[in-house]
Amino acid sequence: MSDVTLEALTKTYGDEVAVDGIDLTIRDGEILGIVGPSGCGKTTTLRTIAGFETPTHGRVLFDGVDVTHVPPEERNTGLVFQSYALFDTMTVRENVAFGPKMQGAPKDERRDRADELLALLDIGELADRRPTTLSGGQQQRVGLARALAIEPHVLLLDEPMTGLDAELKTRLREEITGLLADLEVTALYVTHDQEEAMAMCDRIAVLNDGTVEQVGTPAEIYRYPTNSFVANFIGSSTLLEGTAENGHVDLGFTELGLEVPTSGTVTLAARPKAFDLGDTGPISAEVTNVTYLGDRTRLTARVPDGTNVTLHADGMETYQPGETVSLSIDDTRIHLLE
Ligand code: ATP
Repeated sequence: MSDVTLEALTKTYGDEVAVDGIDLTIRDGEILGIVGPSGCGKTTTLRTIAGFETPTHGRVLFDGVDVTHVPPEERNTGLVFQSYALFDTMTVRENVAFGPKMQGAPKDERRDRADELLALLDIGELADRRPTTLSGGQQQRVGLARALAIEPHVLLLDEPMTGLDAELKTRLREEITGLLADLEVTALYVTHDQEEAMAMCDRIAVLNDGTVEQVGTPAEIYRYPTNSFVANFIGSSTLLEGTAENGHVDLGFTELGLEVPTSGTVTLAARPKAFDLGDTGPISAEVTNVTYLGDRTRLTARVPDGTNVTLHADGMETYQPGETVSLSIDDTRIHLLE
């Protein structure tokens, strides 16, 4: 087992509350993503797990053992940052073998472990090169191999893909998730990129202002956001205000079939696919913005109550701002917010 639990974790710097009472578990063998806007406390949370920061309140537990006051070098965490922080005076193999050397592993064993990891990451042929002679993507792989070489209790990745081009990012995402699953590594993945977190993580914690807004699988968070912050941060959503009565919601300009267990004013989150374009849709809307994205086009359109809704159209069809379109709403893609 190697899990990590944060209990009521709080970190303040003077008046600044960076992390505000976080309860969270990184389960054995999972990749848990932490996403949230700049300054929400992602890096502070990661640094507290690594032991570089001591919490103001709360505890950090590794497999149920309190490590809150254990120094970083005794925690056995693997770190991968955006800046690769490789040792330029050493070869790639020596970089990867460095951690095991510090742990006292015999020379043959650490060389074998380094070569095995380099092969797994498909960079075996770079073993004798110096880090400065490598591309960004290659250096990132070496950084990952080096962090994994110590067989960490938890692998901590802080925005590791920043600075890499889009194609390389996509390839590395698949490689990293495959490798971590094969090695059954427990990992925390910090990113501000919600799409990256959706693609790579088993579960995601959405942070805002030092607190956890929601934790769940990517699908749970996308389909059932608990509040407007999550609905907007993960994917795009249109928030609709309506009145619930007898289990149904009246939006003013149309009535939804969706059943809700409440009455009074409600807020609903509608994903772009909740709006269907068609000649016979009951809702008349005016296109206000058109963004062509290749295989699809993102439209915003003003519905009769003045709300601008975001929807997707087939990229093969052409729309112009000012045009009137007919919409219908797919109730199954509308979600009641708490
Ligand atoms: P980003 O995505 O921009 O890296 P983040 O979510 O990782 O942001 P943190 O770096 O954890 O955010 O910072 C959380 C808050 O704590 C911020 O308001 C930041 O200014 C503050 N903070 C972080 N470290 C310190 C420090 N050493 N001294 C004072 N304030 C700090």
